[in-house]
Amino acid sequence: SIPLGFFGGIGGASKSGILIKGSNYLEALAEAEIIVFDKTGTLTKGTFKVSEIHPVDISESELLEMTAYAESYSNHPISLSLKKAYASDIDNTRITDVEEIPGHGVKAVVDSKTVFAGNIKLMKSIGIDCRNNDAAGTIVHVAIGGKYAGCVIISDEIKEDAAAAVNKLKAEGINKTVMLTGDSKAVGFKVSSQLGLDEVYAELLPSDKVSEVEKLLAQKSGKGKLVFVGDGINDAPVLSRSDIGIAMGGLGSDAAIEAADVVIMNDELTKIATSISISKKTLRIVK
Ligand code: ADP
Ligand code: MG
Repeated sequence: SIPLGFFGGIGGASKSGILIKGSNYLEALAEAEIIVFDKTGTLTKGTFKVSEIHPVDISESELLEMTAYAESYSNHPISLSLKKAYASDIDNTRITDVEEIPGHGVKAVVDSKTVFAGNIKLMKSIGIDCRNNDAAGTIVHVAIGGKYAGCVIISDEIKEDAAAAVNKLKAEGINKTVMLTGDSKAVGFKVSSQLGLDEVYAELLPSDKVSEVEKLLAQKSGKGKLVFVGDGINDAPVLSRSDIGIAMGGLGSDAAIEAADVVIMNDELTKIATSISISKKTLRIVK
C-alpha cells in the first residue's frame, strides 16, 4: 500500500503547479543525481528573432518569404518564429507538399519548387555543400529547387529563471547538470557556459539524445536517478527513457505531457528544484 504521506506530497506539489504522476516518481525525485536539459524551448524561450539574412542569388525578402512558406506547417519553435518574422499571411494554395524532418528541418513544395530549410545535416543529406559562418545564432540554411539560396540567422534568449533554476538545483545537492541539443556546438556551448552547466552535447538527432541519456544512466551511482527536462518538441523518446521525465507544460506538446512522469504546468524552471525538495520532505514524513 502507498503511505498516506505520499498523497500529501503529490497534493502539495500540485498546489505549486507540479503534476506528479505517481508516488513512485515522487519518491524517486529525492534521489535525483543527474539533471539533463533539452535546450530549445526548455532552457531558452524558443522565440527566435531574425538577426541576419544572407541570400544567395535571390533577394532578402524572397529568401525570408520562401523560408516562412516552407516552415508554415510546422509547430517547431524555429518555424513559429520565422512565420512571425515574415509578418504576412501565408497563401496555402502555393504550398503543395510538406514534410517535417526531426533534428534537421523541413521540406516543402512552394510554387512548384522544392524548398528545404534547416541545418547543415539537412543540406548534406540533399548533397548541398554549405558552411556555418561564425554567427552567434542558430543558422537556418535554405535550398530552393536543388540550389543553395542562403541562410537566415536567428537567435533565441535564455529564459529569465534558467540561471536561478540551475543554482537552486546545485543547492539541492545536484552535482551534474547536462544539456543536450540538436543545435550547433557554438550555440550549445554559449548557452551552457552562461548557465554554468557541467556538460553539453550538441548536433544531436532525437535518437542521439536517447543514446547520450543511456551513456549517462550507465555513469550514475546505483541509487541515483537521472532526470530529463524537455519541452516535448522532438524529445518524447528521451523523456520516456529517463528515470524521471519532466515536461514543461506551458509550451509542451500533448505527446510530451503524455510521455512525462512530472509536468511543470506553468513552465517555471525553478519548480524542478522545488519538486526535489517536496520529495525529500515527504520522505522524511513518511519514513
Ligand atoms: P533542440 O535539441 O535544441 O531542442 P531540435 O532537436 O528541435 O532542437 O532541433 C535541432 C536542430 O534541427 C535545430 O537547431 C535546427 O538546426 C534544426 N531544425 C529542427 N527543426 C527545424 C525547423 N522546423 N526549421 C529549421 N531547422 C530546424
Ligand atoms: Mg527541443
